[in-house]
Amino acid sequence: MSLTSPVPGDQAGGVVHTAQGEACFFCGQSTSDPAVYWMGQRGEIYLNPCCADRLCTRLQRDIHEYEWGLEHPGRCYPWSRHELA
Ligand SMILES: [Zn+2]
Repeated sequence: MSLTSPVPGDQAGGVVHTAQGEACFFCGQSTSDPAVYWMGQRGEIYLNPCCADRLCTRLQRDIHEYEWGLEHPGRCYPWSRHELA
């Protein structure tokens, strides 16, 4: 993970890595610098910083739901997705 910038970066070997013209992976809105940038197995992912926070919260919730299911097989997760969304 890294942050984008319109200025050439040392970590990118002097290459400009900007989020201008990209779409946010979470909300689909256009992104601007600085944005959160990930390189996944199938391509690049750009996130508005506020959307990165929202996505992280939801990923953590899904992990907790998964772990709770492992600890309590056959029981429903105690919180509904609608209450936490
Ligand atoms: Zn977004």
